[in-house]
Amino acid sequence: MAEIDNKTVEQEEIIPKNFIQQQIVDDLAEGKNGGRVHTRFPPEPNGYLHIGHAKSICLNFGTAKKFGGLTNLRFDDTNPAKEDTEYVDSIMEDVQWLGFDWDDRLYYASDYFDKLYDFAVSLIKKGKAYVDFQSPELISEQKGTPTRPGSDSPYRNTTPEENLELFTKMKDGFYNDGDCVLRAKVDMSSPNMHMRDPLMYRIIKQPHHRTEDKWCIYPMYDYAHGQCDYWEGITHSICTLEFEVHRPLYDWFVDQLKDSDYRPRQIEFSRLNLSYTVMSKRKLLQLVKEGFVKGWDDPRMPTICGLRRRGYTPESMRAFSDMVGITKVDGVTDVAKLEFCIREDLNKRAQRVMGVIDPLKIVITNYPEGLVEEIDAVNNPEDESMGKRKVPFSRELYIEREDFMENPPNKFYRLSPGREVRLRYSYFIKCTEAIKNEAGEIVELHCTYDPETKGGNAPDGRKVKATLHWVAAAQAVKAEVRLYDRLFTDADPLGNKEKDFLELLNPDSLKVLTQCYIEPFVKTAKPLDGFQFERLGYFNIDPDTTTDHIVFNRTVSLKDGFKK
Ligand code: ATP
Ligand code: MG
Repeated sequence: MAEIDNKTVEQEEIIPKNFIQQQIVDDLAEGKNGGRVHTRFPPEPNGYLHIGHAKSICLNFGTAKKFGGLTNLRFDDTNPAKEDTEYVDSIMEDVQWLGFDWDDRLYYASDYFDKLYDFAVSLIKKGKAYVDFQSPELISEQKGTPTRPGSDSPYRNTTPEENLELFTKMKDGFYNDGDCVLRAKVDMSSPNMHMRDPLMYRIIKQPHHRTEDKWCIYPMYDYAHGQCDYWEGITHSICTLEFEVHRPLYDWFVDQLKDSDYRPRQIEFSRLNLSYTVMSKRKLLQLVKEGFVKGWDDPRMPTICGLRRRGYTPESMRAFSDMVGITKVDGVTDVAKLEFCIREDLNKRAQRVMGVIDPLKIVITNYPEGLVEEIDAVNNPEDESMGKRKVPFSRELYIEREDFMENPPNKFYRLSPGREVRLRYSYFIKCTEAIKNEAGEIVELHCTYDPETKGGNAPDGRKVKATLHWVAAAQAVKAEVRLYDRLFTDADPLGNKEKDFLELLNPDSLKVLTQCYIEPFVKTAKPLDGFQFERLGYFNIDPDTTTDHIVFNRTVSLKDGFKK
C-alpha cells in the first residue's frame, strides 16, 4: 500500500521543450520564488489580437500550466488616447476561445495608477526623478546616440521639494499636454539609450475607459510594466525580443522598490511573423479604418476573430503555436504551416458534404422523372463513429463545370462526351450530349446512368478513372460561397522597399460565388459550423447567414486541390 502511495505522489519529471522552460526548470532547481511559476499575458487594448498574440497566449498560459503555475491577464491600459473597452472585450473573448482561463486573475495597469503615482513620488523624494519642461525634440536631442553620451537636462538638478510641487501640479491638471514630463534620473551616459533618463509620466487630458477623469497624467509603459509584474508576483515575464534592451530599466525600477530577493525574471523570444501578412495592430487598424477589409473579423485578417470567422479552430491555432516553437531568432514563418494545422484538425473532425460551387446542370435522360433516391454517404472516412447520412439523388443534378470538357486533352479523365465516370456514392454515368446556347456556351449535359452500378461499382468489374461530386438540383440548398486568397501579393509586404504595403494588397483576395448548390444536410447548420466540401476544401458557415440566405467561407483548400 505504502509503495502505491509513494508512486502517486512522485512528481513527474518535466522535460523542457525550449529555452524558456529550461530557465524555469533551472529556477525551480535553485529554489527560486518558493517553487512558484506565475506568468502573465499583457495586451494593450488598442486593437484586436492577432495570431502573433495567440502564440504569446499559448506560450504564457501553456508554460505556466505545464509547471502547475498560474497566468494573469493584464491589460496594459496606460494610454487612454488609443484604448477602448471594445478591444478589452474582444481580447477576453479571444483568450477564452483559445481555451485558456485567467480565473479571478484579471488585472489592469490602471489598477496600479495610485501605487505607481506613490512610487513616483518616492523616487522624486530620493532625488531619482524630475519634472522636465523641455520640448520632446530637445529631450530627444540631448539623449545623444549609442556612441555619443547624452547631455543633462537643465531641469536634472531641480531639488526634490521643487519637483514634488511641480509633479503635484502636473497631476492636478495645472499644465497641458506636452508642457512637461516626469523623467527618471538614471544615467545620461549609459550605453543603453533606455537608461538615459527615460520618461515616466506624460500629460494626456483625455478620459480613460476605466479611471475616467481621475487622472490627466499617465505612466509610460516602460515605467508601469515591471512594477505591475512585481506587484502581481510574476516569476517569469515572457515578452518579445524588442524588449530585451528595456530589461535593465525594468530591473532598475524594481530595484528601487523591492524589499526582498524576489524580482520577476524577464525572458525574451522572437515574435511571430507570417508570410503574406502584416502583424502590427497599427497596420491592421489602418486596413480596417480605411476600408481595405470589412472589419477586424474579416476572414482575410490574421486576427484571432478573423481566423475564427474563417473557420479556424482553437485546436489548430494551439497546434500551430506548438509547431512554430520558441526561438530567439527573428524570421518569417510560412503561412502554409498555419494552413497545414487547420487541415490536419479538420480532416479528423469535419463533416463531409457535397457542394458544387460552379454548377453545370446534367440531366440523366434514362432516370425516371419524379423519382428521388436516398443514397448513403459517409460522414467522415477518418472517423467511422461519425456514421452515414442520406443524400438525395434525382434526374437533374449539378456537377462542377470544370469537371467536364468537350474536347479533353490526354490527361483529363473526368467527364467528356462518350466518357463514363462515377458520381460519388451513387452511379456510373456517361455523357451523351452537351447542350449549348446561341453563343456556343455549354449550358447543360445530357447523360445516361447505369442502374446496375448503384453504390458506385459495376458488377461486371469495369472501371472508371474519375469520381465526381454532385448535388441533386431540386433538393440542393442554394448558397453564397466566399473564396479567399492571401491578402497581400508580396510574401513580406512591410519589407518591400519600392512599394507601400497598401499597394501590395491582393486585388483578388476575395471572390464571391453566388450560384452554389450544397446538399440539403447543411440546412440545419449554425454559424461557424465547419464542413469539408468533398474535393473542394474546408468551409464554414459565415455569420452573415440568414434564414433564406446561407453564406459559406472557404477556410482552406484541400492539400492536393482537385483530384484529377
Ligand atoms: P503589435 O506590435 O502587433 O501592435 P504589440 O506588441 O504592441 O503588438 P501588445 O498588446 O503589447 O501588442 O502585446 C501583448 C503581448 O503579445 C506582448 O507580450 C507581446 O510581446 C506579444 N506579442 C505581440 N505581437 C507578437 C507576435 N507577433 N508574436 C509573438 N508575441 C507577440
Ligand atoms: Mg505593445
